[in-house]
Amino acid sequence: MPVLSYLHHLFNPERCQAYIHTLRWKDRPLQCPRCQSEDVDPWGDYHYRPGCKRYWCNGCKRTFNDLTNTLLHQSKRSLPYWILATFLLCLSCSSRRIARELGVHGRTSYRWCWWLRNAALSYEMHRQLEGTVEADDLYHTAGNKGQAHGGGKKSLGRRARGRRKKREPGRGHYDKDRPAIIAWVSRQGAVVIHATRDFTVTTVQKAADLAVHAGSRLYTDSASSYRALKGYMHAFVNHTQKEYARGDVHENRAECLFSLLKPRFKGLGCTTHFLFGR
Ligand SMILES: [Zn+2]
Repeated sequence: MPVLSYLHHLFNPERCQAYIHTLRWKDRPLQCPRCQSEDVDPWGDYHYRPGCKRYWCNGCKRTFNDLTNTLLHQSKRSLPYWILATFLLCLSCSSRRIARELGVHGRTSYRWCWWLRNAALSYEMHRQLEGTVEADDLYHTAGNKGQAHGGGKKSLGRRARGRRKKREPGRGHYDKDRPAIIAWVSRQGAVVIHATRDFTVTTVQKAADLAVHAGSRLYTDSASSYRALKGYMHAFVNHTQKEYARGDVHENRAECLFSLLKPRFKGLGCTTHFLFGR
């Protein structure tokens, strides 16, 4: 360990434990996470986990603590590691950076980031956008041939042979390694991004039903898949006639989002496949 110790060493594990306790039970009584019984008694603590209190459930005759049935349950690392990792992830640090700051293996921090993101997502999966929502689509080539190992251009010392995946005419499709990415941007600020197999009416309708609350106002471009959408108050601008905004009707937020994300999608080259869960 270097002379300047890692940041999490400055944390007090007992304070972290108390913090987790407040986070988990702040708005409800202490309850057994297995059988939901509220008939529980204190049951000592753990010598290897300072500050972690154990409870006895009179319902299912088993013990539990503040971490039972959570991500951190039975983790061999102490809470300061987890709290700092979560904090750094929220500051959009890379998993490599987190590994360096925490002094854990790169694979460990990669896995933690993956778990933490999924845990955060699980709270949002059923939330739908409401009010005025803009939608836009983009096609992203998933092939990443010709990219250097850490991203960016490879210095070859000669002219490139031009063997990378060529952009095909027309709309993309997952099977052609060029999936469609649809962004639903609420004027209130929330965003849902879908990566879909194709851009047919059925797919877009399915994606809209997942992301946008029925009856919302929807502003898009003039693509026919949007025009066939059912269940929304729909208005569109016609880009082919050089119409980009008509009063309140425009999709500039969605397009702005893509202009910010496009360079990132490039870096995601090989990982876009992760997005195909839905
Ligand atoms: Zn119980």
